[in-house]
Amino acid sequence: MKEQKFEFAYEVYSNISELRKEDADLLVKARAVTKHAYAPYSNFFVGAVAKLNNGEIVSGTNQENASYPVGICAERVLLGNAATIYPGVGIDTMAISYDSKEIKSDHPISPCGMCRQSLLEYETRTKKSIRLILAGQEGEIIIVKTVEFLLPFAFNSSELI
Ligand SMILES: [Zn+2]
Repeated sequence: MKEQKFEFAYEVYSNISELRKEDADLLVKARAVTKHAYAPYSNFFVGAVAKLNNGEIVSGTNQENASYPVGICAERVLLGNAATIYPGVGIDTMAISYDSKEIKSDHPISPCGMCRQSLLEYETRTKKSIRLILAGQEGEIIIVKTVEFLLPFAFNSSELI
C-alpha cells in the first residue's frame, strides 16, 4: 500500500478591490446577471459570466422548474450558450456569483458536482483550462486556475472506449 495525496493551490482575495481590472469587470457582470435567474423555488439566484478565448462574453443563470429535476444550473446554461454561439472556442475565465432571499451573499460558492463534470469536459474538448472566479455579491473571492482541481479522479470519455 502507498498513500498518495491530492492538493492544489487557489487564490483568496478579501474583496473585489484586490482583483485586477478584467477579473473585477467579469465578477461585476456575474453579480448583475443573477437578476435574470429564474429561481422561484430555491430563491437562490446564480449568475455565471465567462470571457472566451476570442474575447467574447457569454453568460448564464439558473433556470428552475416546478418539476425540480428539470431545472438547470447557471454554469451549464452558460456552457450551452457558449458552445452554441461560439462552437469550439475555449473559455478563459468564468465568474460565478449568486444572490439569495434567504442568506447573505457574502462568501464564495463553487459549482455543484454535475456542473464540475460538465465544466471539466468543456476544458477537455476545447483543450483550454477554465479559470474560475467564485464570489458572492460582496466579500471574499476565490480564484481557481482550472476545473481539474475541483474534480479529482474524474470520470471521462476514455473510460467508454
Ligand atoms: Zn450546478
